[in-house]
Amino acid sequence: MNSIQHWIDGKIVESTSGRTAPVYNPALGEQTGAVALASVGEVDTAVAAAAAALPAWRATSLSKRAEILFRMRELVDANRKEIATLLTSEHGKVLSDAMGEVARGLENIEFACGVPHLLKGGFSEQAATGVDVYSIRQPLGVVAGITPFNFPAMVPMWMFANALACGNTFVLKPSEKDPSVALFLAELLAQAGLPAGCFNVVQGDKVAVDRLLEHPDVKAVSFVGSTPIAKYIYETGTANGKRVQALGGAKNHMLVLADADLDMAADAAIGAAYGSAGERCMAISVVLASDAIADDLVAKIAERIPAVKVGPGNQPDSEMGPLITAEHRDKVAGYIDGAPAEGATIVVDGRPSQATDGFFINPTLIDNVRPGMACYDHEIFGPVLAIMRVHGYEDGVATINANPFANGTAIFTRDGGAARQFQFDIEVGMVGINVPIPVPVSYYSFGGWKASLFGDTHMYGPEGINFYTRGKVVTSRWPDPAKSTVDLGFPETR
Ligand code: NAD
Repeated sequence: MNSIQHWIDGKIVESTSGRTAPVYNPALGEQTGAVALASVGEVDTAVAAAAAALPAWRATSLSKRAEILFRMRELVDANRKEIATLLTSEHGKVLSDAMGEVARGLENIEFACGVPHLLKGGFSEQAATGVDVYSIRQPLGVVAGITPFNFPAMVPMWMFANALACGNTFVLKPSEKDPSVALFLAELLAQAGLPAGCFNVVQGDKVAVDRLLEHPDVKAVSFVGSTPIAKYIYETGTANGKRVQALGGAKNHMLVLADADLDMAADAAIGAAYGSAGERCMAISVVLASDAIADDLVAKIAERIPAVKVGPGNQPDSEMGPLITAEHRDKVAGYIDGAPAEGATIVVDGRPSQATDGFFINPTLIDNVRPGMACYDHEIFGPVLAIMRVHGYEDGVATINANPFANGTAIFTRDGGAARQFQFDIEVGMVGINVPIPVPVSYYSFGGWKASLFGDTHMYGPEGINFYTRGKVVTSRWPDPAKSTVDLGFPETR
């Protein structure tokens, strides 16, 4: 049984809290490890290590920081398979998907390698006579990241790459469900030459999170997880004077117009709904099918489902793995159980016909779903795709805009004008045009609207750099002291 501990001040630190949580191999349904759950004192030790490392790290030159990030880039690249394998063993997603996660996380380290350019300020010569004005961006200090189970490698990389590049030191609180990847990344950062204390991992639950939210030395908190917790993190963190970006849950709609290529739309829906067993915040969970093509589209999706190979993530031919825990599997099954009584139609039923050791549910398709049904109103976060029939473009857009979640959405059409209008009309943070999972590349920023994001700043990319720095403006002059006079007037520029 693996004992999964903290990483503080450049080394593994054994917890003495006396509290642990089980870690499973979801494909086998077996407990494989126990993760430490930090005490308040252990969080304080990690924050103290980060605070002690801060002065030297923020004084480290930009090119030296970039050099370390370049080395980290090489190390993650060289260890893609190891990270992905570790990830699969605790999360359950199939190895190819885990490799994709690592690749998309790596992009954020590559972006952060450009920090000397990213932190360039502005300069205005002769803003007033003999006066120059310039802006600089400086780190916040110790910053914390609190991450969800579904991307245990990528989401931490969304955060720490830019945070460290900007000269902050970092405390990561990973999900207690798949905590080992964070330690692997910590070791790689150390190998890359990051000084001890700059990056720390505290394993834990609400106790650790609450301490990070109230600790006076933590200046900012980045969070990714479910909406109720995101709201709590935002409200508590900001009440304690911290800068907070808290990304929440999702219900992502794919609108298929009558002119779309239906085979392409069905292929896309299958990948976006069932990839990673639907445990993606950018998964498509609702297809809005225009009346005219709805029957055909449902048939095309349904006929593709039996071909999806469900199995343990470490088997090469598996395309979809299990869910994260038995409780989550049962919760997802509960939404399928309740759908017929609410008036929906189960077209493909993925509930296991007999008990399995692993936490599996097969791809499920539910038609005639409407707002007000639990399987529509809640984020299911499983391999369950709902079909809602809509009367074309206006009805589809109104449905999407009425939903409280607004993380991602997609339109499938061959009409460029309709697609352009969709991008204009839709009240969602990330939009795909014939692209079902429009996760922005690392040099843009990631974030939803409405109940999918609390805070003003999206994550990574340019907004990530802004989040992890604060601006300072310097006004300077070098006058001839011989001409100095007293002047009580307010300084003017003309
Ligand atoms: P979660 O909200 O349960 O947990 C996220 C983190 O918060 C974990 O580190 C957990 O330990 C901590 N936490 C849980 N309960 C807490 C509490 N009561 N008080 C303080 N901290 C607490 O989310 P999850 O189940 O790990 O992840 C899945 C959710 O994350 C889904 O809702 C998904 O949509 C969302 N998500 C969103 C994005 C995005 O970018 N918007 C990305 C990935 C996942």
